[in-house]
Amino acid sequence: MSMKFGTLALGLLCLSNEAHAYSYISAWGHPLVKADGHHTFEVNRTMHPEYANMAFDAGLAFNMNSSNAYVDVVMDDDFTTAVRNGESEIRFTRPTNFVMLCGPNAGACAINEYNANPSDPNTSNLLIQMISSDLIFPGAEMEGELVGRYNRTTDLRQLWGYNGAFRPSTNTFLHEMGHAFALGHEARLYSVMGRDWTHTTANGFTTQPSIGSDSARGLNLLYGAFNEGTMEDLEVSHWKYAGMASGAYSVHSRTDAFPVINAGTGLLGPGGGLDPAYNAVNDVPRGMQIVYETTVENNGAREHEVEVQWVMSPTQYIDDTDTVVGTTRIRIRPGNPLTVTSPPIPVPAEAGVTRFVGARVDPGNWIFENNNSNNDTWLYALRSY
Ligand SMILES: [Zn+2]
Repeated sequence: MSMKFGTLALGLLCLSNEAHAYSYISAWGHPLVKADGHHTFEVNRTMHPEYANMAFDAGLAFNMNSSNAYVDVVMDDDFTTAVRNGESEIRFTRPTNFVMLCGPNAGACAINEYNANPSDPNTSNLLIQMISSDLIFPGAEMEGELVGRYNRTTDLRQLWGYNGAFRPSTNTFLHEMGHAFALGHEARLYSVMGRDWTHTTANGFTTQPSIGSDSARGLNLLYGAFNEGTMEDLEVSHWKYAGMASGAYSVHSRTDAFPVINAGTGLLGPGGGLDPAYNAVNDVPRGMQIVYETTVENNGAREHEVEVQWVMSPTQYIDDTDTVVGTTRIRIRPGNPLTVTSPPIPVPAEAGVTRFVGARVDPGNWIFENNNSNNDTWLYALRSY
């Protein structure tokens, strides 16, 4: 999660005239970009192949972004790995070496190399650009050994955000790849450049990480929009922005729910009576009405007006067979995750039957997207009494 690049002090510049909050790694106010918008990440070939698979997964996920920034992930063509050697390398290394490279508090890090020392005043007239970026994770570099907390699984029951044992590797890779393209940490918005493992969408038991709208906006401004801004993607999530940690990272919580009629009972969501856990069924009195939240992201390059549909589903899997119980129209800009509140929705009328409340964005598929599989999510499981 941390960044390290020689003697350069971290510079975070946020343009105040733009309606976004992404920040970037900079020197004298200029982002330290990778000039060609491209990294070839070379995976250390002495590692367990599953580590390479984590890197390949992440490369595919990163390249879904709507900007011209893209990556290739390949096996290293040699057996040596070193930081600032002109090659962008991916390593899962032993804890002692990891701490030496990334520091004691990091979960992973990107070590960026520039064509000059950005903090040296004698080089201040040069155009300083990124040369390479090494992505370092704790693990093991010996073939046959697969250790550590990172895992490729997209089964949310196994993942940190849902009280599982593993940190989802693609989320953290997306965060570190963001650093490799000069994105800094995000503290003010729901973003993978905050706490990466809770920036995701989920349907059924499957999570699907993405670079997200805040980071996509940053990449679009630094590297230009891919194919004249035609790579659109809307995303819906049961996570939202919940403040900042350590002054640098956004933290996220599950979206909330509030009662409508008996307003005196206050919050029903994570801080109140309703349990948002994937396996929790919430018992609620018949006749009660609840409003729900969901976070919508526009990961593309153009503003859209779209419909958010609220549904009741017999299963945790939300799709177009579910019963529509409300709609909300929103305008959503790139780079601005919106946490949207539903109209009042009655709890299931029939007692003793479990129903899942879900949210869908652009259910009519009016917008042509490069990924339509992140448009539906469940929010809460309810059972009336
Ligand atoms: Zn970081």
